[in-house]
Amino acid sequence: MTQAISILGSTGSIGRQTLEVCAELGIQVAALTAHSNVDLLERQVRQFQPCLAVLYEMEPALELTRRLSDLDVKVAYGLPGVIEAAALPESDTVVTAVVGMAGLQPTLAAIRQGKRVALANKETLVCAGGLVMESARQYGAEIVPVDSEHSAIFQCLQGCRDRTEIRKLILTCSGGPFFGMSREELAHKKKADALRHPNWTMGEKITIDCATLMNKGLEYIEAMRLFAVEPAQLDVVIHRQSIIHSMVEYRDGAVLAQMGTPDMRLPIRYALTYPSRSPSPQPPLDLLACPPLTFQPPDTEAFPCLKMAMDCAGTGGTSCAVLNAANEAAVGLFLKERISFGQIPQLVEQALEAVPVILNPALEDILEADRQARAAVYDRA
Ligand code: NDP
Ligand code: MG
Repeated sequence: MTQAISILGSTGSIGRQTLEVCAELGIQVAALTAHSNVDLLERQVRQFQPCLAVLYEMEPALELTRRLSDLDVKVAYGLPGVIEAAALPESDTVVTAVVGMAGLQPTLAAIRQGKRVALANKETLVCAGGLVMESARQYGAEIVPVDSEHSAIFQCLQGCRDRTEIRKLILTCSGGPFFGMSREELAHKKKADALRHPNWTMGEKITIDCATLMNKGLEYIEAMRLFAVEPAQLDVVIHRQSIIHSMVEYRDGAVLAQMGTPDMRLPIRYALTYPSRSPSPQPPLDLLACPPLTFQPPDTEAFPCLKMAMDCAGTGGTSCAVLNAANEAAVGLFLKERISFGQIPQLVEQALEAVPVILNPALEDILEADRQARAAVYDRA
């Protein structure tokens, strides 16, 4: 079980919930990092007393240094600062809860120190899953998923001694706020509508990804990498209630599901205590109060992002990095209200056409594909 932790992205939705779980479990907090939220990071440092606090942006980091001058805490900034937090000798577990590809290099730094990585930052596995999983093997670092679907699968795989017994991994998907709508109806959806997720409260980027179903596409690639399965062994099923978090179908026909109320503190807690389970103060799932559980196929016509991601999973190489970077750029523009909702899949598709695929990429190839994909989106937006 985790004794001391570094949290990358402590001011975000996953980061804040991780701190709640740390407080419940008495886990020591060694390092906290954020992008630029000085006020919240200062409060977190005062409460949890880490030895290192990092802001990615320099000006806010200088401001934090001034504000924390009464405490014995080191303040750092920039990517080197985030990497220092990830590799800090004082922590045995690193929670990667930054959003986007920015999490890749710090994740690799934690792996190289052989730490447990409680991985929320799915974009990292999407861009560079091959490299990340290979270095985890090389350095003996455990990667324990925090994403609820992958945590569910990870839990349903406990006790599976022979991976050839797995027939399928079944990812459940809430369908997001625009479930049942046509591509035409979706084209001009507003930011405020897209930010209204039916079952989960999360950061803005992932909430938009849930509305386009790109989130499920990224999770499809994440599952392929994390559990070393072929795309043919992955299914996505719409399950509006978000009670079953995902399933594993074994070759004898048994289907194991992990269920629970939609609350990210459960997968966070499990990633920190695995292989043990600790008592939770949250109320358990009340089966008698549950709505009927329903299952439907996804509509990849209306939600082409899911189909594009599934295709990239088959293509492999840098195509997944291009998909991810183009999506990050397009979602960023949508959040600034510079493009329409319907342009998100269009811009991703155009980037996939524009940037050539490199198979078996090195880290530099992935970073370059990421740069070209973002440029392709900004050129066409
Ligand atoms: P948020 O947007 O709520 O939080 C992002 C965090 O990362 C903030 O602390 C932010 O700091 C920080 N950050 C952003 N960029 C950088 C950077 N360059 N360097 C250091 N810190 C940075 O995101 P979420 O918590 O929702 O999501 C985090 C990750 O977890 C994503 O990859 C998401 O897909 C995944 N995830 C999230 C779930 C959820 O329920 N929220 C569920 C499953 C997966 P600041 O506050 O200063 O901007
Ligand atoms: Mg998820």
